[in-house]
Amino acid sequence: MIRIGMGRDLHRLVEGRPFLLGGVRIPTEKGELGHSDADVLAHAVTDAILGASGLADIGSLFPPSDPTWKDADSMDLLRQAFDLVRRGGWRVINLDCVVTCEQPKILNHREAIRASVAAALTMEKEAVFVKGKTNEGLDSLGKGEAVEALAVCLLENQGPDWPGIFRALETWKASTAAKTVVQSLQAKEDEPEGTDDPSVSAVALERDRDPWAVLVSTIISLRTKDEVTLAASRRVLERGSTPQALLQIPDETLEGLLFPAGFYRTKARTLKTIGTILLERYQGRVPDQMDALLALPGVGRKTANLVLAEAYDQDAICVDTHVHRICNRAGWVATKNAEETEQALRSRLPVEYWKRINYLLVLYGQRVCRPQSPHCSVCPLFGFCQRVGVQRSR
Ligand code: SF4
Repeated sequence: MIRIGMGRDLHRLVEGRPFLLGGVRIPTEKGELGHSDADVLAHAVTDAILGASGLADIGSLFPPSDPTWKDADSMDLLRQAFDLVRRGGWRVINLDCVVTCEQPKILNHREAIRASVAAALTMEKEAVFVKGKTNEGLDSLGKGEAVEALAVCLLENQGPDWPGIFRALETWKASTAAKTVVQSLQAKEDEPEGTDDPSVSAVALERDRDPWAVLVSTIISLRTKDEVTLAASRRVLERGSTPQALLQIPDETLEGLLFPAGFYRTKARTLKTIGTILLERYQGRVPDQMDALLALPGVGRKTANLVLAEAYDQDAICVDTHVHRICNRAGWVATKNAEETEQALRSRLPVEYWKRINYLLVLYGQRVCRPQSPHCSVCPLFGFCQRVGVQRSR
């Protein structure tokens, strides 16, 4: 994917301030006035790359009202912005800039400016160009009261930084900070407490990755909250730890064990039918092949993938509502439904991450990147995320 970005900035010129362009200090009588060091070219370039990547603009990333950025080195801000852009998978192909002012003349400093900006963006100096113009004596620029910079850049996205994304997710999962955020969110939103693992993964761990337990728990999880799934799975598996045992449970009792899981009566019938099929065709074993799993009633790709990954340790991508939503919001895929997301991820996501993505994103979707108003302000994936369609966030 290729995108164009544009940035513009203007600063008043006053005596007693340094005149900076792209990190190069040019001796002259007046310098740029501003909250940071006011390097007008660095600001225009920062806005151009942020705009092209769809991440933000310089004002929202480094608000002038925030004392943190008082007298900040603008080239440092550019490097920080570029780090975010780069983590979203973007690289700068080329950058073309125009600086307009009456004084100083920038021709003698042009090569130093090109080299400085190119170094900040880790690109070839030849792909950066800077032109100096005057304003023919017109307006504030022509009267020497201000300096203006325009920047246009071309960015190419080479795909998400998967190692960086998974490092951030694993760190979040492991951190006590995650638990603190979780607890404070739960307190605020009065959510029932679950485990630190998605319910099906928790059941898989408790039952030594027994395929029957994973299959039962996954079917219970459909259209059911995680904490309800976990409790119902434990109740059902306590009495029905094998297909044979489950078939011995009276229908009404099984429905009672499943309640309040969504569609608990239908799920009771489905589990009994699956148990019968497994005994008749597979000697009571859960098949370890996608086609055979999909042939079972009530088993779709999400369920089959989860059984293959959690119980049989196969390379499978389970795409549920959280994985589908987060991957699309972040701009890692652009798909209409979970099946398309699975196909897109199969072609883009390195195999080593297939089994982990569901485990990590289910939890992340429940606690940070929530369906309504995601918690972007505390999100470690912010730098990897294009926030597609996010209108409201916390
Ligand atoms: S919480 Fe916000 S920044 Fe984080 S992944 Fe979701 S949309 Fe992106």
